[in-house]
Amino acid sequence: MSRRRLSILGATGSVGTSTLDLVERNPNRFEIVALTAARNVEALAQAARRTSAKLAVIDDPNLLPELEERLAGTRCVAATGPDALVEAAAGDAEWVMAAIVGCAGLKPVMAAIEAGRTVALANKEALVTAGEVMIAAARKSGATILPVDSEHNAIFQCLAGSRSSDVSKIILTASGGPFRTRSRDEMAAMTPEQAVAHPNWSMGAKISVDSATMMNKGLELIEAHHLFGLPSAKVDILVHPQSVIHSMVEFADGSVLAQMGSPDMRIPIAHALAYPERIETPAERLDLGRIGSLTFEAPDIERFPALRIARQALEEGGAAPIILNAANEEAVAAFLDRRIAFLDICQIVEEALLRTGAMQPRSIAEVIDIDRDARALARELMSELAA
Ligand code: NDP
Repeated sequence: MSRRRLSILGATGSVGTSTLDLVERNPNRFEIVALTAARNVEALAQAARRTSAKLAVIDDPNLLPELEERLAGTRCVAATGPDALVEAAAGDAEWVMAAIVGCAGLKPVMAAIEAGRTVALANKEALVTAGEVMIAAARKSGATILPVDSEHNAIFQCLAGSRSSDVSKIILTASGGPFRTRSRDEMAAMTPEQAVAHPNWSMGAKISVDSATMMNKGLELIEAHHLFGLPSAKVDILVHPQSVIHSMVEFADGSVLAQMGSPDMRIPIAHALAYPERIETPAERLDLGRIGSLTFEAPDIERFPALRIARQALEEGGAAPIILNAANEEAVAAFLDRRIAFLDICQIVEEALLRTGAMQPRSIAEVIDIDRDARALARELMSELAA
């Protein structure tokens, strides 16, 4: 079997390094074409050397000379800038792992889709903001989108071989995050360190804060709508603190299928990398006897308003999910920077949605314009809050 040619966008992050781990354990199955990072030039150069990558792209142009120096003596080309990122996404690779965090990943993901590649999609913000345009582009180019997010990957696995008309609903499970049992008063004083300390999963800072507000589940609701073509009413959210069941599908006959596994992102990543085959992973095997019991609770929308706000944005459609995502990215960055408090995050997002009129983006350029304006508005709202 020839090796699968793979590019990893966001190779130095949590999903990116887990992907590299699997690739390096399976050198006969994968060949790295391109790797990208924002600023972590050292990890990028090391990974490019180890995997004999052909192209390494650093987003920060000031770091290009250092990247070139670190890659001296290799055949790997060092590059920077939006065109290089697009080249990494749509160049010579047949499979692209999209693991950049935030809307910054949108253009390269679209380039990979338009070029008809198979895209293993972790970058949920790209789908939340431009889902309709992206799915339409995939239909046109013949690109395949394989979900990497553990919940969507679970649903994808449960759906195998079924007709979508036989699905009555999907059930996204949520761990409830680090503040699942906290009151609003307690949450008001939470620090970035407490918010990123997820009980089950080890992830990047932004998604960890999203899990603490439960905006992550809100984004996943919108992601599920686009990936599986289901309306909001057919996507339920269920809190399951053990993170053993990664999501479920209920069918017309009342059967419910669930996908289970230990909470290790290498399982869904391996599924998307090797699809339709399976590869070994070092993930801990599930020992249900030791776990003993699996519990479930309804989500608490009063303590976690992000779930309500995201569902409203999905139902409103148009620009609302873009504004939701942009304001959330800005607010999470400000919280991590200690400029706003934990509960301010959802307040900023809700206010940004209230202050923006209805728009219907029809292209990526329009999505990017709305995203830019929503970020400016969110920053303005945060300065009003500080005044
Ligand atoms: P990390 O923050 O750990 O990594 C992000 C990666 O993107 C890094 O390689 C980073 O480079 C790069 N990057 C950041 N900003 C930019 C930019 N402006 N331009 C180009 N590259 C950039 O994120 P995660 O790995 O946690 O998450 C990646 C995506 O996957 C997110 O969309 C997240 O929601 C999703 N996801 C993550 C899961 C997880 O377990 N971590 C689970 C499910 C989904 P550098 O290191 O140089 O900053």
